[in-house]
Amino acid sequence: MIPFNKPYLTGKEAHYIYQAVYSGKISGNGIYTKECQKFFENRYNFKKCLLTTSCTDALEMAAILIDIKEGDEVIMPSYTFVSTANAFVLRGAKIVFCDSGDINPNIDVNKIESLITPKTKAIIPVHYVGIACDMDKIMELADKYKLFVIEDAAQAIDSYYKNRPLGGIGHLAAFSFHETKNIISGEGGMLVINDERFIDRAEIIWEKGTNRSAFWRGEIDKYEWIDIGSSFLPSEIVSAFLYAQIENIDKIQKKRKSLWNYYFDNLKFLEKKFKIKLPNIPEYSTNNAHLFYIICKDSNERVELISHLKKNDINAISHYISLHRSPYYKGKHDGRELFYSDFYTDSLLRLPMYYELTYDQQDKIIFTIKSFYN
Ligand SMILES: *Cc1c(COP(=O)(O)O)cnc(C)c1O
Repeated sequence: MIPFNKPYLTGKEAHYIYQAVYSGKISGNGIYTKECQKFFENRYNFKKCLLTTSCTDALEMAAILIDIKEGDEVIMPSYTFVSTANAFVLRGAKIVFCDSGDINPNIDVNKIESLITPKTKAIIPVHYVGIACDMDKIMELADKYKLFVIEDAAQAIDSYYKNRPLGGIGHLAAFSFHETKNIISGEGGMLVINDERFIDRAEIIWEKGTNRSAFWRGEIDKYEWIDIGSSFLPSEIVSAFLYAQIENIDKIQKKRKSLWNYYFDNLKFLEKKFKIKLPNIPEYSTNNAHLFYIICKDSNERVELISHLKKNDINAISHYISLHRSPYYKGKHDGRELFYSDFYTDSLLRLPMYYELTYDQQDKIIFTIKSFYN
C-alpha cells in the first residue's frame, strides 16, 4: 500500500534527543527550544517566535493575546481544521464562517467585508496547503475596521506572499510541526508575534501565566503569577527533534517541490479533458509543496476514484468537512450557504505526498488516475 503520509526522519533526531535528555535540562525553554526559535526568527525575519506543543496551542495563545471575550466575532473560512475555530470558541467567541474562493479553498477575500460587524474582533486567514491568501486585501480590511489578523500558517512553512514569508504578515501567526506537515516534531507548533505589543504578554501566557521567562534571563529575582496562561511550551525532547528537521529544511523542501511538480506536470492534461481541477497558485504566492490535491467533478466521482485507487493499493483521502456543517457547529451557524466550502468538502482529494515517495510510486499513482478517467 502506498500510504497517504509517512513522517520523514533526517537521521539526527535521536542524537539530539539524547543530547537533550542527558544535558540535565529536559523541560521547556532550554537550548534546543531557543535555537529553533532563533532559526525561524533569522530565516524569516519574524520578530519573535515561541515554540508550542501544537499549532492548536499557538492559536489558543493568540486568542488569549487579543483578548477574545464572550460574544466577540471572529471571521474565518469554514473549510479548515477544527483548531482554527476551536481556539476562539474556547474563549467564548462566535465564529462567522466565510466562504472559500472559486480559485482555491482559501478564504474569499471579497466576501469578508460584508461579514464585519461592530462585534468583529479578528480575521483568521488559513493558508491552505501553504498557498497564500491575498494578504494585502485582508490587512487593508483589518486596518480600516481595526481588527486583528491571525494567520493560521499551520501548513505554510517556507512559503511566501509577494516575497514576504507567510506567518510574518498578520499581527500573530501559528505554525504546526505535526507529523503530517513539511517540518515535524511529532506534535508541535509555534506562535509568531509580529506585533511587538504582544511579546511580553505572550511569554507570560506561554509559562502558565508567570514571568518565569524573565526570571530565567535574570531580569527579576523571583517569578510569580501575573496573568492567565497555560503550559504551552514543549519539552526540550520535542525541540531537539525539531532541531534535526530544521537543519534539513532546504533539502526537504527541494524534494517535496520536485514531487509536487511531477504530479502537476503529469496530471495537468486531465484538466482540459475532464471536469477536474489541479491546485491553483495565484501569482502573489509561492508553493511550499505541503500537499497535492485534485478537485473532482463531484462527490460521486471522488468516491469512485478513491475506491479505484484503493483497489490499486494507493491511499488517497478527502479533507475537511466544512465546520459550518459539523455536528458541533451546525446549530450555531447563521444558516448562510457556503457554496465553495461545501464543494471542496465534497470533491477535493489529497494524493500521497511525503519525502520518501519515489518517482516509481508516483508513476503508479499517475497511471492509476489516468486509467480511471480514460
Ligand atoms: C494541522 C493544522 C492545524 C493544527 O495543528 P496541530 O499542530 O496539530 O495542532 C491547524 N490548522 C490547520 C490549517 C492545520 O492544517
